[in-house]
Amino acid sequence: MKALYYENYGDFQNIKIGEFPTPEIEENEVLVRVKAFSLNHLDVWVMEGKMPFDISLPKIFASDASGVVEKVGKLVKNVKIGDEVIVYPGISCGYCEKCLSGKDNECNQFRVLGVIDNGVSAEYVKVPFTNVFKKPEGLSFEEASGIGITYTTMWHSVVSRGKIKQGDTVFIHGGGSGVGTAGIQIAKLFNAKVITTVGDDWKIEKAREIGADYVINYKKENFVERVQEITNNEMCDVVVDHIGAETFNGSLACGKKGANIITFGTTTGAEVNINLRAVFGKNQTIHGVYMGTKGEVSHYLKLFPDKLKTIVDSVFKFEDVKLAYEKLLSRQFFGKIVVKVD
Ligand SMILES: [Zn+2]
Repeated sequence: MKALYYENYGDFQNIKIGEFPTPEIEENEVLVRVKAFSLNHLDVWVMEGKMPFDISLPKIFASDASGVVEKVGKLVKNVKIGDEVIVYPGISCGYCEKCLSGKDNECNQFRVLGVIDNGVSAEYVKVPFTNVFKKPEGLSFEEASGIGITYTTMWHSVVSRGKIKQGDTVFIHGGGSGVGTAGIQIAKLFNAKVITTVGDDWKIEKAREIGADYVINYKKENFVERVQEITNNEMCDVVVDHIGAETFNGSLACGKKGANIITFGTTTGAEVNINLRAVFGKNQTIHGVYMGTKGEVSHYLKLFPDKLKTIVDSVFKFEDVKLAYEKLLSRQFFGKIVVKVD
């Protein structure tokens, strides 16, 4: 099969196109013919060798894909050949206490496709049958490829851990990112007042169009001061920070007493000094979020495409994948960047 891969850690300029053997499936696995995959910052961290463990090279990368079932093992019951599916990249053992409790992202064997295992930047990928979900009707393959990591992480953040309630005030950084566009829409399902940030004025109207009530250009305004003004010093019930070092203390300040503060992703660095007195003084909870659960995926997929949408910024050809990563790193996009595979 044709695949995009790299042989050395480094930047996306190392990506090559080559031939790999088509994966052989086990009895509990599904072979999917990939139609599209979407980019995540995670791909770049893996590519740059920033994971805290070694990864075998050469590497077929990327985590989120959609496609058509090509082959099924004997034990597979949920899909058949020809079904259009989303490949969900969170893989777990399926039989430990955590998995059986529906907390599969806390399984000791939990891993994300494209990190340790080969990923989806190829004509075919194999996964356990519990990692394919039927593609919601009315979604294109490009839209479907942008759902997995972004919506699962955001559903887990805002709903399961953030414990959002009707009418809450929610602050989500990076309203133009894939996770940002997902989080804004999820918070609006709860009639929340949604405040977000962008780094370019052209993204302000786009963030409003998908439901953000207030959009702050963090390059021009101090986001903590703006949140004070917008909320009349009430601050926010749920704060989602996937930016890291540059914003985390501001995020804590944006939380009200008892707020749930969520952290995942650290695009500006992971080391932060925090004032513990400020955290316990406000009775706040900081939640670390690593993806979410398959139960959540099964639930939120029912809300596509009527109540939730993937915001696709752009679609690149397979051979133009480097341009796609260049765009991701430029931050000049709104929503998901997708690569078509056929
Ligand atoms: Zn497990």
